[in-house]
Amino acid sequence: MTRTMIVAGNWKMNLSRAEAVALAEGVAEIKTTDAVEVAVFPTFPWLVPVEDALDEGSVVLGAQDCYVETAGAFTGEVSPAALAELCGAVLAGHSERRHVLGETNELVGAKVRAILDAGMTAYLCVGETLDEREQGRAKSIVEEQLEHGLAAVGTTELAQIVVAYEPVWAIGTGVAASADDAQSMCAFVRGWLGARHGDAGTAVRVLYGGSVSPANVDEIFACEDVDGGLIGGASLDAESFGALVAAAGRIAAV
Ligand code: PEP
Repeated sequence: MTRTMIVAGNWKMNLSRAEAVALAEGVAEIKTTDAVEVAVFPTFPWLVPVEDALDEGSVVLGAQDCYVETAGAFTGEVSPAALAELCGAVLAGHSERRHVLGETNELVGAKVRAILDAGMTAYLCVGETLDEREQGRAKSIVEEQLEHGLAAVGTTELAQIVVAYEPVWAIGTGVAASADDAQSMCAFVRGWLGARHGDAGTAVRVLYGGSVSPANVDEIFACEDVDGGLIGGASLDAESFGALVAAAGRIAAV
C-alpha cells in the first residue's frame, strides 16, 4: 500500500505574528501534489492568523500541544475541543515537552487519547536521548514510548495517528541521524505497530525528525520506512521548507 508522505513544520516558540503570517503565506504557495501532505504547527497565539493566511488551501494546521481535559478549571491549559475548531492535528510528546517540561509517558498517552476524542490527528513523537542510545537502549526506550503513547488507541483509530521518530540528540543540533539509523528506527516503529495492529498498524505514517535540511533530505526521505519528516529549524523559512516538500514529491513519484 502506498503511504502518503507528510512534511510537517514545527515552528516551536518562534516568530512574531507578522513573521508567522508571512511564513504561512509562503507555505500556502508551495507547490505540492496529492502524494504529499503538508502541515504546520505554529505557536498557539498565531493559530488564528495562520489559519487565515493559509486561506483554505490544503495545508493542515496543527497545534504543538494540548491538555487532556475538554473544559474546566485548568488555568493556562488549552482544550483539544477548542483546538479542533481550528486544527486538524496536534503534536503529543515532543521531546522538548518530555525533557524540558517533564511530561511522562502516561501524560503523553492521555494527550493522544484526548486528541483523537476531539477528532484530530495525533502526531506521537518518540525518540531516545544520546545517553540512552550509547547504552544500547534506543529501541527499548522507543518501544516504551509507543506502548504508553498508544495504550488507549484501537486498531480502527490508527488512521488518526502519525508517529514521528525524533532522536533527541538530533533535534536542533544540526547533526541528523544517518539514513541507516533513521531507516532502522522507523522500521522498528513500523514493526511494532504491525505486530500489534496488523495491516492498519503497518499503514501508519512514520516520520523522521531531527536536523532535516535541504542538504540531507533526499537520502533520509528515500528510506523505505520513512514517510516524510517533522521539521523544526528548516521549516522557519518558506524556501527551505519548500525544498523539503519538493524532495518528498520526487520520492513519492518514484
Ligand atoms: C523538531 O522540532 O521536531 C525538530 C526535528 O527540529 P529540527 O528539525 O530543528 O532538528
